[in-house]
Amino acid sequence: MTDFHRPTSAKYRLYRTFAGFLTALMLLFQHQSISQNNSPASQFGPVQLQSYKVSGSFGELRSNHFHSGIDLKTNEQTGLPVLAAAAGYISRVKVSNIGYGKALYITHPDGIVTVYAHLEDFAMPQILDTVAAIQFQKQENETELFFTTPLFQVNSGQIIGWSGNSGGSEGPHLHFETRHQVSEMPFDPALIGYSYQDTIHPSFRNLVIYTPGPGNGTFLAERNLIPTDTSNSNQIIPETIKVNSNYFVGFEAFDRAGSEPNLLGIKEYRLFTNDILTFEYKIDSFLFDQSRLINSLIDYPFWADSSRRILLCKTLPGNVLPFIKSTPNQNAYPAKGKIKHRLEIKDAKGNTSELNFEVVITEIAKPIMHLKNMRIQKPGLSDRIVGNKAELVVTDKSLTEEIALQVIEHSIDSAGFISPVIEIASPGSFAVIQPMKLTIKPAKKTTIPADKWTIARLDSSGSIKYIGGKMNPDLSITGNIRTPGKFVIIADTVAPVLMDAISERIVRFGGMEKVRIVVETKGDFSGINTYSCVLDGKWIPASSNPAGTKFEIITQVPESPGSHELKVVVKDACGNEATKNYQLFY
Ligand SMILES: [Zn+2]
Repeated sequence: MTDFHRPTSAKYRLYRTFAGFLTALMLLFQHQSISQNNSPASQFGPVQLQSYKVSGSFGELRSNHFHSGIDLKTNEQTGLPVLAAAAGYISRVKVSNIGYGKALYITHPDGIVTVYAHLEDFAMPQILDTVAAIQFQKQENETELFFTTPLFQVNSGQIIGWSGNSGGSEGPHLHFETRHQVSEMPFDPALIGYSYQDTIHPSFRNLVIYTPGPGNGTFLAERNLIPTDTSNSNQIIPETIKVNSNYFVGFEAFDRAGSEPNLLGIKEYRLFTNDILTFEYKIDSFLFDQSRLINSLIDYPFWADSSRRILLCKTLPGNVLPFIKSTPNQNAYPAKGKIKHRLEIKDAKGNTSELNFEVVITEIAKPIMHLKNMRIQKPGLSDRIVGNKAELVVTDKSLTEEIALQVIEHSIDSAGFISPVIEIASPGSFAVIQPMKLTIKPAKKTTIPADKWTIARLDSSGSIKYIGGKMNPDLSITGNIRTPGKFVIIADTVAPVLMDAISERIVRFGGMEKVRIVVETKGDFSGINTYSCVLDGKWIPASSNPAGTKFEIITQVPESPGSHELKVVVKDACGNEATKNYQLFY
């Protein structure tokens, strides 16, 4: 049993007064903001009260995806009013623990959809009521509603939500996105006038010259990192760089919009070879389905090792991103004498930096993949490697360059293992776009029921990570694999542990005073799959952090304080369940 108290009445009154003051201040800002921010697009207006200070640009490189919108700063606060960019109707409402969190989609008459993500809450009473009704009816914590007809109309500048930090957000901000209604492709909001102040040129951090690996790409490639002057927007590398005849070019760069510390993305870049354009990249829009191809636009093995992103001026064979263009053989230039290069990078506002350098070919390349015991995998081709207790399927969309791997079956070397350890071994790291499918067969009799079995990954550090997978009729398990490593079937029979401590306080949320209750688990091997919270005998929606270890209930402040019962039930991905009852006083 846990005992918590509502704030003392004096403190509580002070808080209310302060909150009232804040509200008035925000309305004042709103007027100023609308009159000062002349919207560049005819019908689109500001989406929130801050001026457009951005912390993320469109197309910016993120982990395994391109950033699909712009991130607007909210001064590290939540609860700022978010305004509809233009008139339209609410066409989609999403409540999710991951990704966009609480998000609103508005369809505008001209075939454009605007998206507002990571909200603290929705502002329109009809939306709040509709979402709550569906959540209670289905007893679903997460929900998604689509409206194909203009049921909920909004005016330009109307407050539609409160900015927040929900879903996969790593700090309070507003993610604003523009999409084409039919294709659902996100596009750069700058194309309809959503721009921000940025007069600072992007900066080169390193020029990178590659000696390709045996597959002629980044796999097992050698890199020559040549530091550049980050302050110089038009620089020349003085020495001539010696290269292999199959060399290719990459670079590390960053952009700043102002004095803010956060870094933005490079919007476009071009490589000229002896003054001829040989590689071009410009991101205005993309398909969500292709977003993972970012891993073959960057030097993936380098990123996997260092978390640093080198952009390549080379199209790897399986990289079908439509907004990169390269000459079929970018290095088909006279091998004698110096080759002159100019690299040009631009940020979203067209600020440009240039890097000029010369190379000379001193070595003729013979890239042939012949690695002992390895099986060569080519992009665009599928392969099926069948062993005694394992099968690995590399799909035709898994790879974007030639790599080599082998599947090794080790013995069962731990009491907890239900299968042999299956190792996917490779001498280098490589990007996997569509996951490979690994099937492992059990090889040991066990009394543990099969519904508790799962594929796990054994890390070099000795830790065991949950992979999951789908069980087949012969009790083998097929899981999605994106990296080499060691994999095994184990069982998860340990129930999640709900912590005794519970936190409960009055907060300002969604523009109103609410009670916030937080319950946590210790963290579970296979992860929390489902959870449910019942307050005073009634199911109540709760959100969770993306990791699924923290559950938050935001509810009305009761008219009169008193004792309340909260029952929390959590179940992990292997079906182990835990229940705990809490007593609250508020
Ligand atoms: Zn964002």
